[in-house]
Amino acid sequence: MTPHAPSYYAATANPFPSQSTLAGDERADVVVIGGGFTGLSAALHAAEAGFTVVLLEGKRIGWGASGRNGGQLIPGMRWGATDLVDTFGEAQAARLIALSLEATGMVKGRIARHALACDLRAGHFQAAARPGHMDAMRREAELLHRLLGYDSLRMIEKADLGDQVASPLYHGGMFDAAGGHFHPLNYALGLARAAVAAGVRIFEDSPVMDLHQAAPVVARTANGAVTARYGVLACDAFIGEIEPNLGRWTMPVANYNIATAPLGEATARALIPSGAAVSDSKFVLNYYRLSADNRLIFGGGEKYSPRPPADVAGFVRPHLERVFPQLAGVHIDHAWGGLVGVTLNRLPHFGRIGDTFYAHGYSGHGALLTTLAGSLIAEAMQGTAERFDLFAKLPGRPFPGGPLLRHPLYVAGMLWYALRDRL
Ligand SMILES: Cc1cc2nc3c(=O)[nH]c(=O)nc-3n(C[C@H](O)[C@H](O)[C@H](O)COP(=O)(O)OP(=O)(O)OC[C@H]3O[C@@H](n4cnc5c(N)ncnc54)[C@H](O)[C@@H]3O)c2cc1C
Repeated sequence: MTPHAPSYYAATANPFPSQSTLAGDERADVVVIGGGFTGLSAALHAAEAGFTVVLLEGKRIGWGASGRNGGQLIPGMRWGATDLVDTFGEAQAARLIALSLEATGMVKGRIARHALACDLRAGHFQAAARPGHMDAMRREAELLHRLLGYDSLRMIEKADLGDQVASPLYHGGMFDAAGGHFHPLNYALGLARAAVAAGVRIFEDSPVMDLHQAAPVVARTANGAVTARYGVLACDAFIGEIEPNLGRWTMPVANYNIATAPLGEATARALIPSGAAVSDSKFVLNYYRLSADNRLIFGGGEKYSPRPPADVAGFVRPHLERVFPQLAGVHIDHAWGGLVGVTLNRLPHFGRIGDTFYAHGYSGHGALLTTLAGSLIAEAMQGTAERFDLFAKLPGRPFPGGPLLRHPLYVAGMLWYALRDRL
């Protein structure tokens, strides 16, 4: 059985029995490919709707981004309300935002309903890296209030920043009481347990090598095949390996996290007194939170080359020490990385090919949106595709440049934006 990538999450994972590898032929109403949040949510919602479901995971449940991410539950999409209104107009933007905000209640609802032990904590604080970012946040809070009566946002002025985060870097920020954070791998494993209880047959170490996308959908692995009425592609940053055409729409970007040694409650609380998840408004952002055992879990820096840094902790440490100089030299117990599926315009990419649905490219905002995506896919399979189509109709286009130039062009673009953080 493929082990989980070493990380703080793998070291503190709740038990979940290994699932067998697909051997032979299976039939189901739905075959789901990928055992991260998207695939697990689609499988669970489909099973609850009465479909028979097989889920094929190439490695282990939660092996991809879902088991390695920062655990930040940030309501909404990567685009703020202001950008959405400017691009789509108020009515359409309000529909999109309302739907994306449903994800927050859906994730919390799943955690409560299945009693998922995943260290859920309330609150997300977006820290302003520049004074001008405060104005943008104020406009965002006012717009969300006016459009949807969204009232969980509160502006935090610089004078009160110490109640949120003990860092010299920021100019205030915006606190969202509806946001939060969790242990992502334990959320994934909990969803998997709930899916099995709902009748989903899960196979691990079963990479799909070939997919026929129109009914009958057939997903083939090295040792078997699943024939189904519907397929679900839930492979996010890995989608290009199985479906190269869809792979042109997302760029896998490596992102790295560390977990410090336990800091003790007093030191930990002094860093983030509110206990919220924090992310800042830089283009290459820092994001961090406290774990249930009082470690700082910190993500910072992006690497656009496919090769991981030789020393991941050493790569992240300077970012951590810039945010919290008081932690200079702190011991780092765990360091790990993962791939984020990013689209060219940072809007998620949903759609269908034949009878196969797909959802990916959440662009760093997938911890909440994935559970929603899975439920919208299940809804569409039941014949109500209106809400799925709201996302499927979002504009977007593939990365330019073809297989050879795609990555260098993207890197050049990203380095320009990263440079702007420093100007
Ligand atoms: C380091 C890092 C930090 C992040 N931090 C945050 C955060 O704080 N907040 C946030 O909102 N988002 C964050 N994200 C993004 C978020 O984790 C993702 O958007 C989300 O987990 C995507 O879930 P998914 O199920 O679509 O994909 P994944 O979790 O990547 O799952 C895809 C699965 O498909 C499997 N697979 C691939 N190919 C095949 C195949 N051929 N056959 C069978 N199985 C296959 C893979 O093994 C994998 O398990 C972060 C991501 C990373 C990497």
